[in-house]
Amino acid sequence: MNSKIWLSSPHMGGNELKYIHEAFDENWVAPLGPNVNGFEVDIEQYLQADTKVAALSSGTAALHLALIECGVSHGDEVICQSMTFSASANPIAYLGATPVFIDSEKDTWNMCPIALEEAIQDRIAKGKTPKAIIVVHLYGMPAKLQEIIAIARKYNIPLIEDAAEALGSTYHGKACGTFGRFGVLSFNGNKIITTSGGGALVCHTQEDKDKAVFLSTQARDNAPHYQHSHIGYNYRMSNITAGIGRGQMEVLADRVEARRKMHKFYLDLFRSTAGVEILHEPDADYFSNHWLTAITIDPTICSHSREDLRMALLDDNIESRPLCKPMHLQPIFAHAPFYGKKVSETLFENGLCLPSGSNLTDADRQRIAQKVQTFFMK
Ligand SMILES: *Cc1c(COP(=O)(O)O)cnc(C)c1O
Repeated sequence: MNSKIWLSSPHMGGNELKYIHEAFDENWVAPLGPNVNGFEVDIEQYLQADTKVAALSSGTAALHLALIECGVSHGDEVICQSMTFSASANPIAYLGATPVFIDSEKDTWNMCPIALEEAIQDRIAKGKTPKAIIVVHLYGMPAKLQEIIAIARKYNIPLIEDAAEALGSTYHGKACGTFGRFGVLSFNGNKIITTSGGGALVCHTQEDKDKAVFLSTQARDNAPHYQHSHIGYNYRMSNITAGIGRGQMEVLADRVEARRKMHKFYLDLFRSTAGVEILHEPDADYFSNHWLTAITIDPTICSHSREDLRMALLDDNIESRPLCKPMHLQPIFAHAPFYGKKVSETLFENGLCLPSGSNLTDADRQRIAQKVQTFFMK
């Protein structure tokens, strides 16, 4: 059996252990310390745009705190892109609020601005102004931010950017995750850089960051004893984990370059395959980190389905994955309102994410190319 080619696997840079050793040497084995502070500064300098970053235990935790800081509570409604990973929507449910799901548009596969405005108007007409909008830059592709920001401003609803997959992506030259009231990053094991598990909340004021740190460290009031006026969470990043993050930040630019090289490889590979479309930047305003390269296979043009291709790749121990199943089609969110048509549903039916890791070798690419070429020749 050939060795496994993963969709996206961790790729260490080399200096991660140096920072972990420093933490051990100084006994900063705690959810605070020089690596946590250093990692936050590294991210702030990378993102620019006057960001204030709070390092947390996961991207999901960051989304949860973003919603709390936007004032979301029981009975509220929160707008969320339907085609995404469940972690974008789950924190809405943690708070007893209801998600209102929005379809994708065909250019970026992200939130459709037209369906978004339709939803806001209808929810207001039904008596509730949504408390926040969660837009996702899925697979690293920036969403149509200009249109979405204009709508969010028009109705005065705070925007939360789920940039868990989009560290290194930019829109109009500005980092994804820095446009909204809050941005969310993830450093889970499959992301473009990883701390094994971890996340960050991107804020724009010291006050917003301080509140996130306060809530993430059990909401302790200023007193010598344990004194609490708020419900707290144990969401702060550990100083060991942050050490991995500092090492990974040193190689982030290389990782973006390598993922984009993988994307270019697939563009060349599928150039003359009728019925296969690759998710690509609509124009020069969009710059994707191409965390994952994703394709759709039109079954009316190809004689094969995306499931056929997935199985053929698996046959050679090559991992691929169907696109995210839209949240409005998930059993757990079946009751939630949905606005749009069938764009995300059709993408899900025909779409496949391909191995995109920054550590794939020429030999890996050769194996993938060979398998794909034989598949489409049949
Ligand atoms: C990974 C991911 C998250 C969650 O991040 P974790 O760090 O795994 O909690 C949220 N949204 C999207 C789109 C993701 O890909």
